[in-house]
Amino acid sequence: MAFDGDRANARLTIDVAAVVENWSRLRDRCTHADCAAVVKADAYGLGAAVIAPALAKAGCRRFFVAQLDEGIRLRAILAGTDVSIMVLGGVLPGTETLYGQHRLVPVLNHLGELALWRRYASDVGDAQPAWVHLDTGMNRLGLGPDEQTRLIDDPAAHLTGIALAGWLSHLACADEADHPSNPLQLERFRRLVSALPSAPASFANSSGIFRGTDYHFDLARPGVALYGANPTPERHNPMLPAVRIDARVLQVRSVDSPMTVGYGAGHAIVRRGRLATLSVGYADGYLRSLSGKGAAYFNGLAAPVVGRVSMDLITVDVTDVPEPLVQTGAWAELIGPHRTVDQVAAEAGTIGYEVLTSFGPRYLRVYV
Ligand SMILES: *Cc1c(COP(=O)(O)O)cnc(C)c1O
Repeated sequence: MAFDGDRANARLTIDVAAVVENWSRLRDRCTHADCAAVVKADAYGLGAAVIAPALAKAGCRRFFVAQLDEGIRLRAILAGTDVSIMVLGGVLPGTETLYGQHRLVPVLNHLGELALWRRYASDVGDAQPAWVHLDTGMNRLGLGPDEQTRLIDDPAAHLTGIALAGWLSHLACADEADHPSNPLQLERFRRLVSALPSAPASFANSSGIFRGTDYHFDLARPGVALYGANPTPERHNPMLPAVRIDARVLQVRSVDSPMTVGYGAGHAIVRRGRLATLSVGYADGYLRSLSGKGAAYFNGLAAPVVGRVSMDLITVDVTDVPEPLVQTGAWAELIGPHRTVDQVAAEAGTIGYEVLTSFGPRYLRVYV
């Protein structure tokens, strides 16, 4: 039998139209560049099987994933759609033919990988497409300064047999509007692109798009902004929220001083009142660092989280919420109009990316 919504302990509602609208807004900002969509980690936890086809239908023609297996899955999801799929993590030795089979384009991150790809092209007898990642300050993936010099000195030696799709680089501090790394990386990328054989260039992630048109080049690669997190923490969120989380009330109890709540007796009751136990926990990505932070909402009325977050449960103080709203089986909003992904992330001491990608498989997922 299909999972019946009425049995659900917690619900993750995903607004697909909001994701599509967010992509359209980002695309419209890229007046002279194309706009891809980054759908790695199952579309940041929202579900690539639903999100990617919706974006393709809206006109998105280029998708980025992190891993080969994500690319293979995405190719199947988008079967019959004419889109390119890029794999940011590059090619591990022995996996080359899978890229060909599933028409995936790797992002090559070091000269050894370029050599691997040239050999594969020569085995196949045909130039093979790839992006090349030039590191400009992240020091994570991409050709570093020495490798860049070798490439500039003799491009043909490294690129023959590679159908160069473009040059790519990634910003380290794009979410900090005034960070000096941004113009520095931009300048480095410009210099590299002009010294190397002419090809399209891709630089901006979500926040990078908002650093100005200089950062757009030919192809932008937004991820988190599609899913509603604020790419411009310095000002109002220009994106639409795309996720909502609600959890069920399992039990309501009366409490009074001197009781404590939860593991470690982490919260002391100081007044007579009521507690509700909600059916969500750190196994659902409701991070343990949210213990004693923020609130659940009943019809917009705040019920502060008290005590530690446990694996499957949290406890909230509902003393100030009218009883009829807090019955066993009632729903409480944990992320939604009253508490954004970015707020939850701040309360947890993390970033929206981690909140989104932590949700896990136990929710009833509702796509609207
Ligand atoms: C994840 C990723 C992106 C998307 O970044 P957002 O900040 O989510 O927009 C773009 N480029 C690369 C190389 C990435 O790893």
